[in-house]
Amino acid sequence: MNILFASSEVFPLIKTGGLADVSAGLPLALQKSGQDVRIVMPGYPQALARGGRLQTVAEFEQDFPGRLLQGRLPGSRLPVWFVDIPEYFQRAGGPYATAGGLDWPDNAERFAAFSRVVCRLAQNRLGLDWPVDIVHANDWQTGLVPALLSREKTRPASVFTIHNLAYQGLFPWETFNRLKLPQELWSVDGLEFHGRLSLLKGGLVFADQLTTVSPSYAKEIQTPQFGYGLEGLLRHRAKDLHGILNGVDYRQWNPARDPHLAANYSRTRPQGKRTNKQALQQCFGLPQNAHIALVGMVGRMVEQKGFDLVLHALPWLLQQPLQLVILGSGDKRLESELLAAGRRHPERIGVKIGYDEALAHLLEAGADIFLMPSRFEPCGLNQIYSQRYGTVPVVHRTGGLIDSVVDTTPETLAAGTATGFHFSPAEPEPLAQAMARAVEYYQQPEYWHRLVDAGMRADFSWQRSAAQYLALYETLRETAAKQPGQPNPQKR
Ligand code: ADP
Repeated sequence: MNILFASSEVFPLIKTGGLADVSAGLPLALQKSGQDVRIVMPGYPQALARGGRLQTVAEFEQDFPGRLLQGRLPGSRLPVWFVDIPEYFQRAGGPYATAGGLDWPDNAERFAAFSRVVCRLAQNRLGLDWPVDIVHANDWQTGLVPALLSREKTRPASVFTIHNLAYQGLFPWETFNRLKLPQELWSVDGLEFHGRLSLLKGGLVFADQLTTVSPSYAKEIQTPQFGYGLEGLLRHRAKDLHGILNGVDYRQWNPARDPHLAANYSRTRPQGKRTNKQALQQCFGLPQNAHIALVGMVGRMVEQKGFDLVLHALPWLLQQPLQLVILGSGDKRLESELLAAGRRHPERIGVKIGYDEALAHLLEAGADIFLMPSRFEPCGLNQIYSQRYGTVPVVHRTGGLIDSVVDTTPETLAAGTATGFHFSPAEPEPLAQAMARAVEYYQQPEYWHRLVDAGMRADFSWQRSAAQYLALYETLRETAAKQPGQPNPQKR
């Protein structure tokens, strides 16, 4: 199958979160299983600089002058098409926001232009002679792709993946006119969401099939608590909505080969983990103590990730024999409160503000426990990485955290399936209780070893998830073949 995978971030070309990891791992696994996959992404300067030897494969004048450049995903033979529209993508700063953290004021224009180019590619209108079978779009930045394709007489089948329903690409209704979108798309059955333009709805309403990144999150987003007002639409589309747990790329996340560690180690040769613990304590200026439980956190400092719960739980946590190291950036108030907590307890808490890929790896390797108290979590990757690194996750019982961490109970411990600890609800006291439980197990090496071992054995490689996506693509292709020329194989 020819699969066009459209994403606004792809690791290691550019990354702000898990979407980038998925946008490399899934296409690579699909390619490995024999499919012809091409990634298409915006031509940000950082991405162009890392995309290998670039070749111009198409030019476009209409609406927004630009070019399509072809490069490769570093370290692979996977082709990447960069949509190089200088007016929209050649600027310093992040993919969605300025270096100061403010959303780019023309985000709607930027990602509408990107989506239009993706549609031209999907319709084989850029002279590349590559007929597309499946267009796989991701998150609001590519929501217009299924919407615009739905108006074509013939078109490839479309899949839209929700990586996080909290980000919806909402803009004032004036933007809809400014973008010169087809008038028919402005309705509550289209892109309108309570008087505003929702780019996410373009995907949710018009894609032939929807997926999200874990089975539990697929259920949760059909409820008012997690649905942001879109739960009705998602329930309506329930039979087309599939939860497929993300895989992880063990080439990037393997303690036996990870170049960012102080020492490499594996399940059968675990000694090096101690050296990483020392290095991590040193890096965060904490006393070097091999026996105290070292707890790590990495993530975007936003309300979703529950860093504030940790701040509120500190009085309880500090009564336990543990040290806490935190890496992240985001909300300025959270950043400064966490830094202040570190200053108040320099022997117990280390905080680093920033985005640091290498330190994130060392933290996974050096910590004994990984804390992930997300209020909601579509999939979450760090709790999966941490298992491979022999670092036991403590997680809020939600979304992908449910599907990837097995809570420790007498039964799961006896069965050898326990890999971590769940807590619920997402409040400071249950969080502190779960941490106390984890620390208690940590102090009993024979039990702890079972948790570590089960985690390190667990296999979340992409191949398994990719097989599920592939099965979905196959059913779509069969439906399309049965209904040739149908504008849209799905009824709605
Ligand atoms: P989300 O996509 O919501 O941010 P995920 O857990 O799915 O959360 O993915 C987060 C990814 O981003 C992980 O690979 C994690 O290691 C990485 N990450 C997040 N914050 C940082 C940071 N400050 N430094 C380095 N890596 C980070």
